[in-house]
This record gives sequence, C-alpha cells and structure tokens, in this order.
Amino acid sequence: MKIELRRFWVELIPLNPLIHLQAVIILAVIAILSLRFRFLDPKGAAASIIIGYIIIVFGGIGYFAILLTFFLISSAVTMLRVRIVGELSIEKDWIRGWRNVIANGLAPTLTILISRLLSCSDRIMAAGYLGAVGTAFADTLATEIGLFYRGKPRLIMGFEKVEKGTPGAISAYGYLGGLLALLILATFSWFIGITSPQLVLMLIPIGLVGTTIDSILGAGIQGKYRCQGCGKLLENPHHCGQPAEHVSGARWINTHIVNLMSTSLGAMLLATLAALL
Ligand SMILES: [Zn+2]
Repeated sequence: MKIELRRFWVELIPLNPLIHLQAVIILAVIAILSLRFRFLDPKGAAASIIIGYIIIVFGGIGYFAILLTFFLISSAVTMLRVRIVGELSIEKDWIRGWRNVIANGLAPTLTILISRLLSCSDRIMAAGYLGAVGTAFADTLATEIGLFYRGKPRLIMGFEKVEKGTPGAISAYGYLGGLLALLILATFSWFIGITSPQLVLMLIPIGLVGTTIDSILGAGIQGKYRCQGCGKLLENPHHCGQPAEHVSGARWINTHIVNLMSTSLGAMLLATLAALL
C-alpha cells in the first residue's frame, strides 16, 4: 500500500464540470423524493445532500449507489415495521433526521476522503467503505427485523431477557436481518464492480462483528433512562410526555454516537484486513 500525503485538497477535486452537474441533479431528485415519501425530514435531506456530494465527487457514482441502496432498503423496512408492528419508543416515525444521516453516513464519507488524501489503493478504499456501510446496514436491519420477533430479546451482556428497543438487546431474528443486509450489500457492490469475491468473504463476518460491537457499546456505555410513567427502560431521555430518569451509561453517548463509533470501527477492521491479506 503506497501512502503519500496529498498536499492540496484542490488537486483531488475533479475539474470536469459534468461530474458536479451530475451530482447536483441526482442529489436534488433524491432529496425531493425522500421528502415526498417522508423518508427524510428537511434537515435530514440537507445532510444527505452534503454527504452524497462528497461521496460522488471523491468516490464516484458507484460508491454513492451503495449508500443509496442501504438508505432505500432501510427506509422501506422501517416503514413496513411501523405499519405492521407499530411504533416504538425509538423513533416517532419512519422519518430520518440529520442525526441519523450523519451517524450512518459520516464514517463512509471520511473513509473516502482519508483514502484519497493518503493515496490509498481502490481496494483499501472499497474495504473501508464497505466495512462502514456494512456495519450500518447490518445494524439497521438487525434492529428493524428484530422488532418483528414476538418474544423478548436478550441483552448481549448477561443474556437476560429485556424489553424490545433496549440498547444492546439481541435476537436470532436480528442477526438474520443483519446477515440479509450484508448479503444484499455484497451482491450489489460485486455487481457494480466495487468489490472482489475475496472482499465479499471478509465483508460478511466483519459486518456481523461491527453490529455486535454496536450492541456491546449500546449495552455498555450508551446512556439509558427509565420512564417515570410506564417504567420502561429507554434510550431516549423523554417518554410518556415527561423527562425520564437517567439509569446508567454516559448521557452524551446516544444511539447515534454508538452508530458512529461502530461504523468507524467496521471501516478500520475491514481496511486493515484487506491491507494484511
Ligand atoms: Zn413511558
């Protein structure tokens, strides 16, 4: 792996105006459709335009298509879950806000920028990117599919049965959801030529490891609260229309921070593995 620090950002920005025009048109259409179908709120749409622009300009349209696939499938599954299983304390609705967009999109974006800045090979960049998106996608589908499970999930540490929606709760349904996400991601990225069969073989276990790290961080350090009204253990400091009592974990570490940590770790793990093998 040849590493040489680029001295100027400017030389990395494509000069071809068509690339920028293409990015603006694609992102505008997606933002309008996302608002129309209530997949994103206005601030979420603004965040997705910034992230999408950086990925298209520095990574290329293929990398953006991977993130878009993750976003569309996750949004569709969340919408189905809200309609079939109902709402949970986790989110008001299926609409995603800017925090969610940044929590899932920042690590993939940084992977591309850092890879370009350090002149990493396309293989290392693809590995880091897929490690981050794989962790985010597997974690999202694990959470959503896990909510279809009728029984109670178990806590990753200690294995006691807990209420659905508890940070760090896991179930077999959840892991099947995560596996499904990784199979979709591996197939799609291979189809568009971003990944190799070798990278696919590493992506699936690393994505599941990333999701597990997310659950461990959720159970261990994420802030947890108990509702004064209904007594449920929550990840939000508000429930039943009143502030909830802080039980454990750090207040500043919410589900989005945990997501950011686990996707960054997923990127580092798969990029390191790709560099070693
Ligand atoms: Zn409550």
